[in-house]
Formats: sequence, C-alpha cells, structure tokens
Amino acid sequence: MSDKAAAPAIEGWFTTGDDPHLIGTQCKTCGTYFFPKQDLYCKNPACRGTEFDEVELSRTGKIWSYTEHYYQPPEPYISGDDFEPYTVAAVELEKEKMVILGQVANGVAHADLTTGQDVELVIETLYEEDNTERTVWKWKPLAG
Ligand SMILES: [Zn+2]
Repeated sequence: MSDKAAAPAIEGWFTTGDDPHLIGTQCKTCGTYFFPKQDLYCKNPACRGTEFDEVELSRTGKIWSYTEHYYQPPEPYISGDDFEPYTVAAVELEKEKMVILGQVANGVAHADLTTGQDVELVIETLYEEDNTERTVWKWKPLAG
C-alpha cells in the first residue's frame, strides 16, 4: 500500500470509490448523453436544449475498437517522463450508446483484448506529482 495521497488528474470527470462512474450530462430536452460534460447547449443538431442534468454514466460497456499508442497521449492523459506504450480502448456504453476512450487497466495487454469484449471502468494512477497519485479512468476486461 502507498501512503501517498490520491487525487483525480482532472476534477469533476469521474467519481472514485468501489464503483467509479464517469460524470456526464444528459440533455433535458432530447435525452442525449454527453461526456465530457456539456452544459451550455445541446450538440444534437435537431435539438435546441440548453438545460442538462448531471448524470453518472454506465460503468460497463463493450470494446468497439482498440489500438496501441507509441506517442505521448493528449490531455487528460498527461504522462510522466517514463512514457511507455499503452493501449487505448474505445468502449460503447450499453445504455447511453456513446463511445468513451480510455487506456486499458494496468497489466492488460493488447493481446488480451478483443472487439465486443465486456469491460468495466476502474480508477488507476496515471502519474505522480508532488507526492500525490493522480488518477484517471481505465477500462478493464470483465472476468468470464
Ligand atoms: Zn438535446
């Protein structure tokens, strides 16, 4: 166990704890979900909604596609100096029917993944800064 403090790499994008969720918004007019949070106007071209509910998104989904990256990732995936190749999965949430990109969990290899695989959201350390572990969501294959 670590005695370091832990804090999200970015505030307000996900909950932590035993059953972490991404935090998105849902348009009150048309019901479309957004992540990251959209709260000014609805991006649905057929909708003029400007009011949104903040919602916890499904924490499971299916792998839509995945790829291995060999370059430094964009925000919020700020990595440290010891950059290593990592695998990113695009996961479709079952209820929201939206695709969320995320790294796969530590210890999961590219070869362990397959399209259509069930995965769940986990929170893992992304990098350390000022003796604090900065966390981010990742996708982890469900057993079975
Ligand atoms: Zn809308």
